[in-house]
Amino acid sequence: MVPKNKILDIIKDYDPKDITIATLCSHTSLQIFNGAKKEGFKTLGLAVNQKTKFYDAFPLAKPDEIIRFDSYDDFVTRAEELRDRNVIIVPHGSFVEYMGTERFEAMEVPTFGNRAVLKWEEDRETQRTWLESAGIQMPRRIADAKDITEPVLVKYNGAKGGRGFFIAKDYLEFKMGIDLSQESYTIQEYVLGTRYYLHYFYSPIHPRGYRVGTGSIELLSMDRRDESNIDELYKLGATEELKKHGMFPSLVVTGNIPVVIRESLLSKVFEMGESVIERSIELFGGLIGPFCLESIVTDKLDFKVFEISCRIVAGTNPFITGSPYSDLIEPGMSTGQRIAREIKDAVAMGRLGEVVS
Ligand code: ATP
Repeated sequence: MVPKNKILDIIKDYDPKDITIATLCSHTSLQIFNGAKKEGFKTLGLAVNQKTKFYDAFPLAKPDEIIRFDSYDDFVTRAEELRDRNVIIVPHGSFVEYMGTERFEAMEVPTFGNRAVLKWEEDRETQRTWLESAGIQMPRRIADAKDITEPVLVKYNGAKGGRGFFIAKDYLEFKMGIDLSQESYTIQEYVLGTRYYLHYFYSPIHPRGYRVGTGSIELLSMDRRDESNIDELYKLGATEELKKHGMFPSLVVTGNIPVVIRESLLSKVFEMGESVIERSIELFGGLIGPFCLESIVTDKLDFKVFEISCRIVAGTNPFITGSPYSDLIEPGMSTGQRIAREIKDAVAMGRLGEVVS
């Protein structure tokens, strides 16, 4: 991991009036660039094999410049080129996934947020330690497949976007579904309920609104993921019958739908965000910026959180012009713009070092 002191030294040499916001041309880049432009920053697109012509169709989100890299190693080896442009990188889900933890940690370029979060986020077990010690309820784990007596979800540890996950209701179904060539997996209680992906933002520098730690949390939006084919499978009738035709439920993310939650659950939503941040401060100095609790609300109105994402998630994309929640903070504010605003405010306060690592 690049030592924090090194990053602090780098930003000392940055011209505060000439900062460039950069991100990988994918995932949530449209709102990151659009938000950075609205806040008056220069923007830089970073591309490896991403196609970038589509930006021509969106002038308000097209980065001022795009540079191409041969591979993700270049983000580490060509760091000086980025530093020379006073770059602050805004990481998103695809950026971290394609880079991999090691390269992402080694990149000697200031990045928005606290990179120490990766060690706690990358593995399902450390995530569980963090979230459960913060008092968050999570789906029950089943240690031995022979103990499956109710619907469970089998998750391969390397999988992303729900790819390859499968549902089993007993040991026989588990044995039929398991792919032993895959590395490791976890078995979780299948929580029946409705899904809410809650998009928060923690600012350590703004003690206003809903206060937590040295600052405050905001709730910017919520989505539900569209997942293929499980979200449409019911149209073909009983799942058991479909299995005879070789059709099995899958959970591959294909898009995002905006949602709101019943208002009486909002207190709980904030309490969960608050305890996750407070615990993160104790464990690793604190998560900074956007994060998402991926939750299921049961018919007892209990939340079960199955995952945390510790940066901007693609579920914020429906809200480039604001959401029913962010509009009550500042109309039209996207998560991308909120990130740029935090950087701008931190620069103005002389506290940039507190929001980058
Ligand atoms: P990503 O990293 O892209 O968020 P992932 O591959 O880590 O995805 P999860 O987010 O853990 O996968 O789960 C994928 C989907 O499976 C969820 O969006 C949700 O629909 C469903 N899911 C996950 N855990 C449970 C559970 N315990 N009970 C019921 N459904 C679940």
